[in-house]
Amino acid sequence: MAYFNKKIVEDVDVDGKRVLLRCDFNVPLDENGEVTNTRRIDESLRTIKYLLLHGAKVILCSHMGRPSGVIDPKLSLKPVANDLSKKLGSEVKLADDVVGSSARALCSNLKNGEAVLLENLRFRIEEQDNEESFAKELASLADIFVNDAFGTAHRKHASTYGVTRFLPSVGGYLMQKEIETMCSILENPKRPFVSILGGAKVSDKFNVINRLLEKVDVLVVGGGMAYTFMNAMGYSVGTSICEYDKADMAKDLMVKARDRGVKLVMPMDNIVGLSYSPDTEFKLVSSDSIPDGWTGMDIGPKTEKLFADAIEGAGTVVWNGPMGVSEWENFASGTCAVARAIAQSGAVSIIGGGDSAASVDKLGFADRMTHISTGGGASLRLLEGAELPGIEGLNDK
Ligand code: AMP
Repeated sequence: MAYFNKKIVEDVDVDGKRVLLRCDFNVPLDENGEVTNTRRIDESLRTIKYLLLHGAKVILCSHMGRPSGVIDPKLSLKPVANDLSKKLGSEVKLADDVVGSSARALCSNLKNGEAVLLENLRFRIEEQDNEESFAKELASLADIFVNDAFGTAHRKHASTYGVTRFLPSVGGYLMQKEIETMCSILENPKRPFVSILGGAKVSDKFNVINRLLEKVDVLVVGGGMAYTFMNAMGYSVGTSICEYDKADMAKDLMVKARDRGVKLVMPMDNIVGLSYSPDTEFKLVSSDSIPDGWTGMDIGPKTEKLFADAIEGAGTVVWNGPMGVSEWENFASGTCAVARAIAQSGAVSIIGGGDSAASVDKLGFADRMTHISTGGGASLRLLEGAELPGIEGLNDK
């Protein structure tokens, strides 16, 4: 059964055509502006190479970060242009603007089999507002639109949705792969089906938890969102990130889990910090005794074992979101433990979200995962069963 029933690059003639290719090059950069994880660029190469090989004039575009209409040199796509040039073996020139004179000049000088990159789409405020005139300007650069930006497919922006109203629009290989892989696994998951959710807030993930409770056998909750559940269970959570106003939401989810026979697994111990900072003093406490003035920063070792036991023997694992503040070394242990447990489980696995994927990459477990999604938010929307605007606008097969 096909889950992606939109046209893809192979279904249109691209020879000699100007192709506007929306990618998700929103990659993490270090303080020197170097790309620290190139997964999203690497995953885009298949579509780019296909188009170049088939004689297209490729106009690449993407956003980076959240400049909200302000030109911020730190969020230039220059590092991406450099990486692409290296990987494609020919220079990918970067325009100085998005659809201005520099972009137009580069696009009109393009030869068949060459690629250029427009500057960060979000340097223009109209992008996120999905403004029609801006979408039209973007479309006027090209003859065909290809959307390969799965990571941004849940956004209704000018470059992901608006532009499809003005050009023949098809999907790229990455878009197709993400949808096909995830939908086929979720359609008929090998059981037991275990989902692990973490990250900051319950409110961001309410819909997905709600939906997953109809599908999974075990739901493991870690990260910042666990404190909202702990508060709802009557535990004091110190100064941990906690959505006190979402206690009822958390209670409803717990009732739903019980009614449907889903095993809900919560942290039993936590690493707590004296302040929310990378070098703060920290200690181990159990979940029923988080002291006032201390902040939950990671799950503790007993919880790591508890979660690993839940993952061991799983048929399918879906993981999204870190178990703690994993960007900071002192609080990355829980997230690494989950990555390790999934890698060792032999289960069919889907990993979503930048922090989860980064820990898998860092530990060298990428090969042992079935699918590492390039989209955290988009994969959550897919798990919810929601329509993705970035796919909606593409031409049907
Ligand atoms: P999300 O985008 O919802 O997946 O959340 C990812 C963020 O959650 C990361 O930046 C983590 O630092 C953050 N996070 C995870 N656990 C905690 C915690 N215990 N306290 C505060 N933030 C957390």
